Amino acid sequence: MPRFSILKPPADGSPVTRKNKRLVVPDDPIVPFIEGDGTGPDIWRASVRVFDAAVKKAYGGKRRIVWFEVLAGEKAKELTGDWLPADTIEAVKAYRIAIKGPLTTPVAGGIRSLNVTLRQALGLYASVRPVRYFEGSPAPVTHPERMNVVIFRESTEDVYAGIEFARGTPQAEKLIEFLARDLGKRVPPDSGIGVKPISETGSKRLIRMALQWALDNHRRSVTLVHKGNIMKFTEGAFRDWGYELAKAEFRDRIVTEDEVAAGAPAEDKLLIKDRIADSMFQQILTRTAEYDVFAAPNLNGDYLSDACAAQVGGLGMAPGANLGDEIAFFEATHGTAPKYAGKDVINPASLILSGAMMFQYMGWREAAELIEHSVEKTVKAKQVTYDLARQMRGATELRTSAFADAMISNM
Ligand code: NAP
Repeated sequence: MPRFSILKPPADGSPVTRKNKRLVVPDDPIVPFIEGDGTGPDIWRASVRVFDAAVKKAYGGKRRIVWFEVLAGEKAKELTGDWLPADTIEAVKAYRIAIKGPLTTPVAGGIRSLNVTLRQALGLYASVRPVRYFEGSPAPVTHPERMNVVIFRESTEDVYAGIEFARGTPQAEKLIEFLARDLGKRVPPDSGIGVKPISETGSKRLIRMALQWALDNHRRSVTLVHKGNIMKFTEGAFRDWGYELAKAEFRDRIVTEDEVAAGAPAEDKLLIKDRIADSMFQQILTRTAEYDVFAAPNLNGDYLSDACAAQVGGLGMAPGANLGDEIAFFEATHGTAPKYAGKDVINPASLILSGAMMFQYMGWREAAELIEHSVEKTVKAKQVTYDLARQMRGATELRTSAFADAMISNM
């Protein structure tokens, strides 16, 4: 274990380890958590009670999580002078699985975004968002129950790589001049310039993770979402590398849509298909049930995640995970909602369901299912926080802490 300079790890509990690339989870894993800024502490306090209750209910006293608070954001700045202390990164690296509430993006201090910094420092290249409907939630479409998808979004490349220069800067001028002189491409001189890198390595590791997850979880299809008709060598390449990888590494377990059209048998195979992003956004609305797992480059995946969550009325409830080959970091997908901080009113379901994802990832399926079923039951009984209550008829509006109580008694 690393030597920490400010953090004090718990005296009991054992670290999660890996053996032959497989996760080994003890019965008393130490799990670092960041409670988050703004409403983060409100939702963390509620969520941790739900997590502990689910584990207790599922395993009696045989298993328990040993929580280890690590610092990031405003609390870290206040206590240590640092927005993201090195200890926090080391702790997550050492214990492999962590969970966090939302963090404020500091306006000053030279850090672009704590979330981006964490992803980069920890090699978290996939942002994973399951989206499904919870009966009773206020959805804007007639058949929200047809949505049950998981989006794997590449999260290190594409136009989010941070290679961007403002109009009129020497860097932008230099690039414009280079494009004209060396590559014969004219760009208006008053342009801002961004660069969109999409690599074979970055694409394939993301698509490999999506395919493996789809196979492990007996899903029906993986759709590659791209705009390759226009951006041939970035998004088009993402699609091509996807098919190449599927055939090279999963040949006996997958079939492509073209192969099915040519008469190949599809039974018991994972179907690999691709859609152009604009068509995808139509089809997720009009043919929702035909889609299952998505693999997408960063920008498409970002839009698609929120569009899918909005379609089932669950933007404030959608859970998320940032995954790499070594580390998994689960997180609420909404922001810090600072105006509600300390008021005990905010909806904790996004963080609670991220915890359920964490338990699935750890192989603690029973605890995960208890949480998911309890969210189903609680929302169906119209016991909800203000955000859902204001859109539902006959709902009982609960505080954050009372929503956790309701969930625990509904387990
Ligand atoms: P936000 O915090 O998500 O809040 C926007 C609005 O969404 C809230 O005012 C509230 O709507 C609703 N909302 C969000 N979470 C909710 C919840 N759990 N329950 C009920 N309603 C919820 O977005 P923001 O105001 O744009 O961002 C605030 C800060 O969060 C910024 O510093 C941003 O950088 C940061 N942020 C962090 C993360 C992260 O750490 N992953 C993600 C996004 C943003 P009503 O006002 O209608 O009630």
